Amino acid sequence: MYGVRGGTYTIVEAFEKLARELGVQIITNTDVNHIVIEGKKAIGVDTIKGFIAGDEIIANIDALTVYEKMLPKSKRNKWTKREPSVSGYAMLLGVNKQYDQLVHHNVFFPENYQDEFISIFDRGEMPDDPTIYICYSGYSDPTMTKKQTSNLFVLVNAPYINEKTDWEQLREPLMEKILQKLEEKGLVDLRENIAYIQTMTPADIKRNTGAYQGAIYGMSSNNIQQAFSRIPNKANDYDHLWFVGGTAHPGGGTPIVTLSGKLVAEEIIRRYKK
Ligand SMILES: Cc1cc2nc3c(=O)[nH]c(=O)nc-3n(C[C@H](O)[C@H](O)[C@H](O)COP(=O)(O)OP(=O)(O)OC[C@H]3O[C@@H](n4cnc5c(N)ncnc54)[C@H](O)[C@@H]3O)c2cc1C
Repeated sequence: MYGVRGGTYTIVEAFEKLARELGVQIITNTDVNHIVIEGKKAIGVDTIKGFIAGDEIIANIDALTVYEKMLPKSKRNKWTKREPSVSGYAMLLGVNKQYDQLVHHNVFFPENYQDEFISIFDRGEMPDDPTIYICYSGYSDPTMTKKQTSNLFVLVNAPYINEKTDWEQLREPLMEKILQKLEEKGLVDLRENIAYIQTMTPADIKRNTGAYQGAIYGMSSNNIQQAFSRIPNKANDYDHLWFVGGTAHPGGGTPIVTLSGKLVAEEIIRRYKK
């Protein structure tokens, strides 16, 4: 198994270090309201701190959200009618106990696995008995935990946001349900040993990352059209506007999204070299 020592965030820090060495100015805590378009050309972004001009605008928020909220309304935009991928409910746990049965990746399957797919994809509802994934990175990287403690990332699949679920109402009961199930599956006394807990619902994912309807992997790949005709990296309706991220080509997930950024960087460099 391969992994990054110090956790995935180390990759972010490495990108930041490299960017600063190359002279990149990074502006944080500055929400973009919308992309400023002049004619057909993207010329900058309007932020909560004012206008920032740019020769090339690269959007890494979910492209469906960009089309919905950050670009002029257009009849040509059919993208937001595409179905989003699955979302998730996650918990970050700091536990004052170690469990010998846990390794780095752990999956606790339900009695009826098929029910989960019917609930999420056909009914758009949270399954009664979800599959529970736990990543215990302290297992293979002891620098991630202290002695006799465990750092657990717990994730269950959830439908993308729809009108059926009020995630604020479900946040606590779902947390209790998952913790209870984990105790039944052998993580004895889990609840009484939790020193830290943070929950993340599909609504949090949407709010914090701009993920369209809280989808984790951008647009779904459930049919041929959505799998093979994703939003192109170069916007086809505006000049100097680019998309990277889960909904754009080539697809969702951290490695593929990184590839998306690389493709855009290479194409912009090629154009400027000309
Ligand atoms: C719970 C969960 C589990 C996941 N598990 C996996 C996994 O196991 N493997 C995997 O490969 N992928 C996984 N993913 C998906 C992975 O995290 C994404 O594919 C990846 O982070 C997408 O990268 P990105 O740079 O396109 O977008 P993001 O990482 O979402 O970054 C978008 C950035 O835009 C910022 N932003 C949002 N709105 C604005 C605004 N208006 N103005 C300015 N900035 C804004 C956000 O703060 C954020 O920093 C998971 C995602 C979640 C939520």
